[in-house]
Amino acid sequence: MTNQVLSLPDEQATLDFGRRIAGASAGATVIYLYGDLGAGKTTFSRGFLQALGHKGNVKSPTYTLVEPYALDGLTVYHFDLYRLADPEELEFMGIRDYFTDDAICLVEWPQQGAGVLPAPDIEIHMHYRDQGREAQVAALSARGESLLARFAG
Ligand code: ADP
Ligand code: MG
Repeated sequence: MTNQVLSLPDEQATLDFGRRIAGASAGATVIYLYGDLGAGKTTFSRGFLQALGHKGNVKSPTYTLVEPYALDGLTVYHFDLYRLADPEELEFMGIRDYFTDDAICLVEWPQQGAGVLPAPDIEIHMHYRDQGREAQVAALSARGESLLARFAG
C-alpha cells in the first residue's frame, strides 16, 4: 500500500497539505485523521475545506461531534470524535447517513468510533516534530490509492 511521509514545518504547510489532498480527492472519500491534541488535524481540515470553496471559519466540532459543510456539488462532514463516550453513540446518530456516495468525511479521533465507523480510503497520522509537524499518509482502498497517486503526481 502507498505510504508517504511529509514534513510540515509550519501551520501554512499543514493548510497546504489539506488543500492538496482536497485537490486530489474525487467523489465520496473517507479520511481518518490521527494525532494528539494540537497535532494539526483541524488545521488540515481547514485547508481541505477552503480548497473546496468554504469561506468561513472551521472549528473542531468537539461537542457536536460533526459539522456539515454544503459545498459546490458535494457535502463534507467534519467529525471530531474526541468526546465520544461509546462507539455505539454513532449508531444513535445514524452514522451511515453521513457516509454516502456524494459525501467526503474527515474524521478526527477515528479510534473512538472503532467497530462502527466505515473503513477509510486514506488515513493520516500527524506527529509533533521540532517546532512543526510530520504527517504520514497511507492509502487503504483502491479509491485511496488513486487519490494518493494524484496527490504525488
Ligand atoms: P488538532 O485538531 O490536531 O487538535 P489543530 O489543527 O487545532 O490540532 O492545531 C493546533 C495548533 O497547531 C494550531 O495553533 C495550529 O496553528 C498549529 N499547527 C498546525 N500545523 C502546524 C505545523 N505544521 N507546525 C506548527 N504548528 C502547527
Ligand atoms: Mg481538532
